Amino acid sequence: MVASEDLTNDPELKSALLTARRGTAFFGRKLKELSDDEFAAPSLLPGWTRAHVIAHVGYNARAIGRLIVWANTGVETPMYPSRQARNEEIDHGASLSPVELRDLYEQSANHLDVAWRNTPQDAWGHEVKAAQGYTAPATETVWWRTREVWIHAVDLDNGASFADMPSDVLERLLKDITGAWHKRGDDKDLRLEVLDSGGITQLGDAAAADPVIVTGTLSDITAWAAGRYTHGITSNRPDTPQAPRWI
Ligand code: ZN
Repeated sequence: MVASEDLTNDPELKSALLTARRGTAFFGRKLKELSDDEFAAPSLLPGWTRAHVIAHVGYNARAIGRLIVWANTGVETPMYPSRQARNEEIDHGASLSPVELRDLYEQSANHLDVAWRNTPQDAWGHEVKAAQGYTAPATETVWWRTREVWIHAVDLDNGASFADMPSDVLERLLKDITGAWHKRGDDKDLRLEVLDSGGITQLGDAAAADPVIVTGTLSDITAWAAGRYTHGITSNRPDTPQAPRWI
């Protein structure tokens, strides 16, 4: 039985699901705007064509779907058997025809959405494992998918930018990225100043005496922090510094 509505009645989770669905629709729209012969062109990701990005987003939906099966059944099913298996799958996917890639994207996105809809309240609390190896409740899979679809829509490089993302997605993304830097000590002497956000104004190394300061709007600074582009970014140094590695 396929539920026509989400089985969960948690308002926070329902709103997170809505943001993920909006991101999926956005990615789908950018994908439709591409003609078949534009799939082989480079994406914003080094070494990846648009076909790689589309394949990855499709396989990511399937991988997150495996976590939802895990949450619902208690049978441990990881996102990917290994990092290498994940990469080989993407390489294989990139060699599919544009029709097959469009199909992969559509079907995997629909399948994940149905799996989410049919997940009852208690299963959402079950622990699953991120691709990076840490565990989190299944509710987190919604965020993992949300950032994939919004960011990779930009990576398709046919007109989407971080300015298209909802501000709550940008804020959470920027906190995720700067949090990862902080854990590794990569934010030493680096300060970010966000010009237009009510939620976040300053991030990074608050204790530094003479920090490198990177300034921009929430969307531009998040794009910079995610390693995507440096448009709209200013700095107190002659050259815009490169953002530390995120993942
Ligand atoms: Zn990805």
